[in-house]
Amino acid sequence: YDHAAARVLPTVYERTTAASQAAGAINLGQGFPDAEGPHWMRQTAAAAITSEVGPTNQYPPGIGLPAFREAVAEHQQMHYGLTLDPQQQVLFTTGATEGIAASILAFADPGSEVVTFEPWYDSYGAMVALAGAALHTVPLTAPNFRPDVAALRAQVSDRTSMILLNSPHNPTGTVFTAEEITEIVEIAREAGAVVMSDEVYEHLVFDESVHTPVLSVPGAEEVAVAVSSVGKSFSMTGWKVGWVTGSAELVNRVRGVKQFLSYTSAPAYQWATAEGLRDDRGFFAANQVQLENSRELVMAGLEAAGLRAYRPAAGYFVLADVSAVTAKSAADYAAELIQHAGVGAIPVSTLTLPSTQRDAASELNHLLRFAFCKDEQVLERAMSRLGQWI
Ligand code: PMP
Ligand code: GLN
Repeated sequence: YDHAAARVLPTVYERTTAASQAAGAINLGQGFPDAEGPHWMRQTAAAAITSEVGPTNQYPPGIGLPAFREAVAEHQQMHYGLTLDPQQQVLFTTGATEGIAASILAFADPGSEVVTFEPWYDSYGAMVALAGAALHTVPLTAPNFRPDVAALRAQVSDRTSMILLNSPHNPTGTVFTAEEITEIVEIAREAGAVVMSDEVYEHLVFDESVHTPVLSVPGAEEVAVAVSSVGKSFSMTGWKVGWVTGSAELVNRVRGVKQFLSYTSAPAYQWATAEGLRDDRGFFAANQVQLENSRELVMAGLEAAGLRAYRPAAGYFVLADVSAVTAKSAADYAAELIQHAGVGAIPVSTLTLPSTQRDAASELNHLLRFAFCKDEQVLERAMSRLGQWI
């Protein structure tokens, strides 16, 4: 991992957005929806900002508004049957990103090792480096991108401070089974490591797949914290309302770090998120149907263009292998696609270790990630551009 570069380079998502804008390309790189989230939640946030009652515009408690923490606890109970004490087991964070950062800084001691699956969500690599720990990975491989739990066990040792789990997984869309998550928690317990489970795609799960929250598996309470946020579940990535749940002891350690990152953030968004978490008014189900349709549109478009596309079980990204149409790496090909086809996508190699990037045999160097959380007309235009150019 290039520690120095991480401090100065914009993220691959921002670079792709900027390059797409500069080239007039359709941006299927950075994962943010075209459609705004529920209007009623936005009205609640607006009312909280402009009225003289409610949460006002001053610092809310660092751990989050009481109503927000209660709503997270209610949501976990209603959807997963989990009982959490909103006072001690729920922490507000500024997006899942801050929950991830604070968890890694809380538990990944300098000089220790952190293990995760590869490709990963970009902030994991950066935060592990900034914590002064070393990242070790286990690849998720095509066509199914299932986790090899035995390979994970082989990477874990008494130097391991954390295992970073992400299910549903970005960018593969893999939904880990309850058995896989149970085994991962067991491995962490044996090693005395903490599991951080990133569950931001918990409500974007398709077909027969079922999301298993880490805190629902046996033994997790002693070793695991879960992270989620409003951004994906309610299609409002700009709100940056997230939450960390777990035992009082572990959540308190995350709180200790979090207070020196942002301390707190806008109460109006916490207030409105609480309303949505208590009752989504059918938004989750409608959004899923919409995304399933978009997924099929993009799958068909990528395959018609000659790419091998892998149907995701969750999230809003499709991975496609470019090796049938080019001898170039996906990173080089992505630059060409933006310039010549007018479509932005993320090379999956940017979400892997440098050793993987240098490994010509790794299929991860031939994969592109296309976001499908966009208007259908936009997706159709993008697919037709790809079909014409490739
Ligand atoms: N984790 C994963 C796996 C993500 O894809 C993202 C991007 N939404 C985040 C965390 C960051 O979430 P937030 O925008 O709430 O900080
Ligand atoms: N989560 C978004 C993605 O995976 C990007 C968020 C960001 O730009 N940091 O595309």
